[in-house]
Amino acid sequence: MGTHKTETLKRWQRNQLAKGLCIRCTQPLATSRHCRRHADQFNEKIKRKQKRRPSQGLCRRTGCKRPLASATLCPVHLVQLRKSVQARREAHRAFGLCLWCRRPALAGRAFCEVHVRQPA
Ligand SMILES: [Zn+2]
Ligand SMILES: [Zn+2]
Ligand SMILES: [Zn+2]
Repeated sequence: MGTHKTETLKRWQRNQLAKGLCIRCTQPLATSRHCRRHADQFNEKIKRKQKRRPSQGLCRRTGCKRPLASATLCPVHLVQLRKSVQARREAHRAFGLCLWCRRPALAGRAFCEVHVRQPA
């Protein structure tokens, strides 16, 4: 794919996100980038990719070849994951933002009105 095409696609995706629409179709967002259907497809694709990667004790993060520290991640990515989860929780506690998309969360809940209905 050429640079120009990539740029056009990126701009279109930004537009879609600004309108609260999926980056792959015109359905409303269910996650931060996709509608329900494409979110499922996207997750499936990642799962398949992770399965294809040799599972001989290597980190599951894309392109990472460090040995595992936990069931799925190397020490570096394990720390990264913990930090990002922690950062999300802190943002929620401090500003009342949705843990999923960072829009304002419903009073007393950890998620916004879109994501409160989804299993966390
Ligand atoms: Zn979609
Ligand atoms: Zn890693
Ligand atoms: Zn949300």
